Amino acid sequence: MSGPSHVSPDGLDLSDPLAQRAELADLARQVAGLVELDRLTGVLASPVPGPPPAASAARQLPRSEEPLPAWRQRGAAQPSPQARPRDRGRSRREAAPPRPQAKPAPAPAPAVARARPAPGAPSLSQQRVLNEGHLHALANRMHGCTRCRLSESRTNLVFGQGDAAAELVFVGEGPGYHEDMQGMAFVGPSGALLTKMINAMGYLREEVFICNVVKCRPPRNRNPQPDEMGTCVPFLREQLEIIRPRAICALGRTAAIGLGLIGPDASLGRSRGRLHEWNGVPTVLTYHPAYLLRSPDEKRKAWQDLQLLFPLLERRRPKPIKPDETERR
Ligand code: SF4
Repeated sequence: MSGPSHVSPDGLDLSDPLAQRAELADLARQVAGLVELDRLTGVLASPVPGPPPAASAARQLPRSEEPLPAWRQRGAAQPSPQARPRDRGRSRREAAPPRPQAKPAPAPAPAVARARPAPGAPSLSQQRVLNEGHLHALANRMHGCTRCRLSESRTNLVFGQGDAAAELVFVGEGPGYHEDMQGMAFVGPSGALLTKMINAMGYLREEVFICNVVKCRPPRNRNPQPDEMGTCVPFLREQLEIIRPRAICALGRTAAIGLGLIGPDASLGRSRGRLHEWNGVPTVLTYHPAYLLRSPDEKRKAWQDLQLLFPLLERRRPKPIKPDETERR
């Protein structure tokens, strides 16, 4: 039976048990995000209480019942491109080429939008499905790309992977050996460290999106050349415009240059430690995990950079994720 009393404000059919659980999970995330935001902004003078029962229940949902980004599974059917409902309470950003020079950091950090989606706007689950379709279409367009010389030596084009509706996107410089072999971004030792960084922030790896400025491995792991970045960056821009994250984290100096956050002669050490902006999206730049593996003393600075993002994010969990959760896919 269906009727108005069985439809959520997001348009979900609440007579469907899966829709009920998705709605409950969305509500629980919003509650947990507000509590964490209050704690971070000092609204609560007392220690943060434990998550409400609903939040606990949401975390125990099997990942298989969460909408997964199907586009990242190779061979999945390509959805047809369509108009993109984009009202998730964030400002629209117009596509524009990366800025060549760094911009002064916006201060203070913008507050997290707390309002529920406007009536008629797609829910997070619905937006995720739409974004998956657009990303899948983009990946198909990029398939076999030969626009720059990096295509000549690659084994696999590395599109990137993660949640198509992620509120946080990590951008590296380009695939390395392991990424080229597997066709996945940030695998191998630096990928393992990035996973730890993501978990420490309060996310599972599949709850963020991870990609690179260039999608094909430069020979002998050299830095991507400016013309190669310039040729490939429009793909990255499309990815970010589809996902529309709340925040971006650029990993390493080359990624920051590719995003137009700093100039080609700028120092990462002097540019990090504050918020930048990419097309209206708050962005931090920090050290690449591969560099952190070589210079572990810099991990503290990287963690300070990541913490700049916390007030901007609402889906990260207030409590650290248990190791066994990080293994769950
Ligand atoms: S690096 Fe980018 S532009 Fe160059 S071949 Fe690969 S996908 Fe195409």
